[in-house]
Amino acid sequence: MGKGTPTVVIAGAGYAGLAAYLALRAHARAGRLRVIVVNADNWHVLVPELPLYLAGDEPGSELRMDLRRAVQPPAELVVARVAGLETGARRVVCAGGIGPIGGDALILALGSVSSDFGVPGVARHALAIGRWHDAQEMRARVLADLEARAQKKVAVVGAGFTGVEIAAALAERAIEAGSPLHVALIGDHVLPAMPGDVRRVGESALRRLGIELVADRAQAVDAGMVRLEHGPPHRADTIIWAAGVRANPVLGSSGLPVNGRGQVRVDGYLRVAPRVYCAGDCAAVPDPHTRRDAAPTAQLALQEGPAAACNAVREMDGRPLVPFQPKERGFLVSLGRREAAGTIAGASVHGGDVAALKRMIERYHAFQVGGLRALARGLLRGQPTEARADRATARA
Ligand SMILES: Cc1cc2nc3c(=O)[nH]c(=O)nc-3n(C[C@H](O)[C@H](O)[C@H](O)COP(=O)(O)OP(=O)(O)OC[C@H]3O[C@@H](n4cnc5c(N)ncnc54)[C@H](O)[C@@H]3O)c2cc1C
Repeated sequence: MGKGTPTVVIAGAGYAGLAAYLALRAHARAGRLRVIVVNADNWHVLVPELPLYLAGDEPGSELRMDLRRAVQPPAELVVARVAGLETGARRVVCAGGIGPIGGDALILALGSVSSDFGVPGVARHALAIGRWHDAQEMRARVLADLEARAQKKVAVVGAGFTGVEIAAALAERAIEAGSPLHVALIGDHVLPAMPGDVRRVGESALRRLGIELVADRAQAVDAGMVRLEHGPPHRADTIIWAAGVRANPVLGSSGLPVNGRGQVRVDGYLRVAPRVYCAGDCAAVPDPHTRRDAAPTAQLALQEGPAAACNAVREMDGRPLVPFQPKERGFLVSLGRREAAGTIAGASVHGGDVAALKRMIERYHAFQVGGLRALARGLLRGQPTEARADRATARA
């Protein structure tokens, strides 16, 4: 690669960052571009598959994909935690004395973190999915509750996509394991972003799994207890916080313009400053239908990453930028392994076929990152066996 080869730095190798890398891979292989990917850990986590992992289903090694396999030479992988950004100089400043790492263009794809929205006690008394070790801790706690002889109680706070998927995975697992575990889902509405018929299907599927639906909001979390806005305190051995996320705080603390959720305000090309782009959960991208900032999803991140990467190259080449137009294909939510519900192209769908479709969508991403092995392993795994399915039906 020549000395004057333009360099693109991608900060974050999640859904948006890796999709950006894949869009630039051919340029890197042809020697037209130097690509540097900076990520805090050595792995890419298949986040939408975490609910099954938390319930003890998936071997963790398959949900954590080795970035050294995914980011291949001549592209460079730097494992370092970005601690600050110098957007004027298009550089990331890393912890541990690494860097700064700069280039001719910068793509920020640092994802999001769990948010307590100011509810006291969450950080101290509840478990939230943050980094990989948080998910591991949550899994260990939940598995101990599942295996306990006496009845344990798990309360999942937040009845959006994440909370519903976690509660359903746990309840399904309890049925299959013959465990007396009690699962409650706390939120004023179940799947509030979904149309009415999907919400109703979701609620009845959750009830069939034996989940207690608590239509209320958390006011505070204490040891073993969620204090509710209206009802009496809800007691639980394990409290899982799934009420929402905010963008990685590094972006706001580096002086970038952010919205109330800490997401960077980008222009119609996903650009925040000359040759600096932002993609994924950490970018505030308006939904063309509602005009409000779109909900953070892997689906959107996978579109934004390549769009940001292509515009970065176009800008370096002096070519006109392409406006980013998100394509809303629908959204599916898992209700355990055997059922899913949601919308596809505006139509409401649910059932076992939808669960299989969701699984295939998730595995397609694994295939893009990890190749055929990842695809095959994941498709074979994650299906309920006949015996498990029978037990689940009997309990329902
Ligand atoms: C349980 C759960 C289930 C979900 N299910 C779905 C679903 O079914 N469908 C869907 O569309 N979406 C789903 N989502 C949302 C989806 O996972 C996110 O929208 C998506 O991961 C966002 O991609 P991203 O690239 O912006 O962030 P991420 O995928 O989170 O990637 C961010 C990357 O940045 C790295 N990073 C973070 N901080 C630093 C730092 N300081 N320095 C260096 N690197 C750093 C991280 O290690 C990570 O690799 C789910 C989310 C959760 C939590």
